[in-house]
Amino acid sequence: METVTLNAGTPEETREVVAKAVTLLNEGLIVALPTETVYGLAANAFNAEACAAIFEAKERPSFDPLIVHVSGKKMLDTIVNIPPDIEETVNVLIREFWPGPLTMVLPKKNIVPDIVTAGLSTVAVRRSKNPVFSEIIKELELPLAAPSANIFGSMSPTSATAVHKELSNRIPLIIDGGACSDGVESTIIRIESTERPKPNIHLLRPGPVTVEMLKKFGKVLKEQDSQIENEMPNSPGQLAFHYAPRTPLRILDCPENFKADPSKSYALLSYRGQEKDGYLRIHDWKEIQILSPGSGKLPEAAVRFFFSLRKLDESGADEIIAEPIPGKGVGLAILDRLQRAAL
Ligand code: AMP
Ligand code: MG
Repeated sequence: METVTLNAGTPEETREVVAKAVTLLNEGLIVALPTETVYGLAANAFNAEACAAIFEAKERPSFDPLIVHVSGKKMLDTIVNIPPDIEETVNVLIREFWPGPLTMVLPKKNIVPDIVTAGLSTVAVRRSKNPVFSEIIKELELPLAAPSANIFGSMSPTSATAVHKELSNRIPLIIDGGACSDGVESTIIRIESTERPKPNIHLLRPGPVTVEMLKKFGKVLKEQDSQIENEMPNSPGQLAFHYAPRTPLRILDCPENFKADPSKSYALLSYRGQEKDGYLRIHDWKEIQILSPGSGKLPEAAVRFFFSLRKLDESGADEIIAEPIPGKGVGLAILDRLQRAAL
């Protein structure tokens, strides 16, 4: 199958590509679309065969459920039953963070095919703020199942070029909406009511909606720590080894710990690219990518993260050495992806 990439640049182009995507999605085909986090591979969430095609194109194991995108609360109500004891929190979080990179796991209605949720009784839901994505889902008037548009286990794509490298000849259409503005996958949470006035918010995957942003609304419990230790995902699909380049990757906690094997070449993933951090000078690196040059801004580091990792993967180095990233704000999400890539 030949893969066509269409640009959503000008308003006229956008109108055309939106119409094209809506036609293909209505025919039960799958289309790669930009979101604010990473590019997604979308299908009509009510069409089990179309959703099966997502699993096939991504080589995704059937135990790994898909995230379903909605256009708003009305569409959300067609696919989930929100338990009364968490309804208020869900509504507050929707008002605060949607459209935006927050995914909530909620009890599903029967209308959602089992293949979408890997047989679970819950479905992960989100509303994207990307204008092209929003327009498509509004015109289609159907929820879209859309996991990241990459081969399973590989790095998420943050540009149409990266999607093409991952999935060319497997899907009919990629819509190029430019680089993703957040750069790491959405935050995933599960809400649990408690005896206290505020609920527990279980963080199944850290992302651009940070712990600091969520803690106003409940007690945030970081489940990914126990996952990495136990290698037992509480959120299926969040495997200990994930988001990985082909080149082996190691996080180097301090520059003094680096001992080069003279027969190997190394590439550096630097946080701020600062001499004083000590990493630049310890080796004649084959390639260096800097996530946020200068002062080290975590949102900028997130936007550049998968792009930089892909560059280093393509550099031909035998191993990628990554500087540690501060585990606060969206840094927690970057660190989570680095740890999973490093195992
Ligand atoms: P992605 O490929 O980035 O869209 O990843 C989707 C991820 O969302 C999956 O790998 C799961 O970890 C998580 N997820 C989706 N549905 C559920 C669910 N019902 N319960 C818990 N986690 C889920
Ligand atoms: Mg993914």
